[in-house]
Amino acid sequence: MSVLLRVHDLAVSYGHIEAVKGINFHLNSGEITALVGANGAGKSTTLLALSGLLRATRGTIEFDGQDISRLPAHQIVRHGVVQVAEGRAILTTLTVAENLALGAYTRDDKAAIAATLAEVYEIFPRLKDRAGQFAGNLSGGEQQMLAIGRALMAKPKLLLLDEPSMGLAPLMVQEIFRTLVEINRKGLTILLVEQNVRQALKIARHGYVIETGKIVLADSGANLLANPEVEAAYLGG
Ligand code: ATP
Repeated sequence: MSVLLRVHDLAVSYGHIEAVKGINFHLNSGEITALVGANGAGKSTTLLALSGLLRATRGTIEFDGQDISRLPAHQIVRHGVVQVAEGRAILTTLTVAENLALGAYTRDDKAAIAATLAEVYEIFPRLKDRAGQFAGNLSGGEQQMLAIGRALMAKPKLLLLDEPSMGLAPLMVQEIFRTLVEINRKGLTILLVEQNVRQALKIARHGYVIETGKIVLADSGANLLANPEVEAAYLGG
């Protein structure tokens, strides 16, 4: 199994507050990895550092053999690291199809973009049905699908997701997790940040537990699910 992304001693601060305190983890190519933890543990901060939206104060992020830790966000996207925007960040006054087209802004091969669009519509048939509708008229779950679809339009090598299940009804949560598994089966590597620890660990090959800016546990998803400490702290004991 080859390593796609390796984070070494990553630290990220907001002013004087160190939110991420020198963490180490890696993502295997082709796997779903979960990063789980409570509110304020440093999950979103970690993702923002991987995307280049926040600067690491220390440490390195190596992606596909290259150090990307000092690159600007738009170059990181071009390397193939694409984050599904938090809070969906859908453009509500544009149509579903227009939102998807925006996701391909780094690409210029029209035929290849059309092929990706067809794949996205295959994964999310509802988006195809609603292609001409304003994104603002979609349900919360459909907007999350659109946010994921838009990220896929960039043809990422690594997809970063920050709490895709947040605010969604249980059935929709199931559907989103099912599609993540489907996308992963097609070969895409995924880093999934979740407070929905049980669901995330169920679909993740490996998982890391982060507490107050430090990684405290690293194991397979299955082992973490069966771990009494994880059970007590995150799975309702
Ligand atoms: P959540 O699920 O609530 O987003 P999280 O695990 O993603 O939690 P982060 O959002 O990464 O946690 O926050 C980590 C720490 O950094 C917290 O203590 C938080 O209060 C702090 N923090 C986050 N954003 C900022 C900011 N813009 N300015 C100052 N402190 C921040």
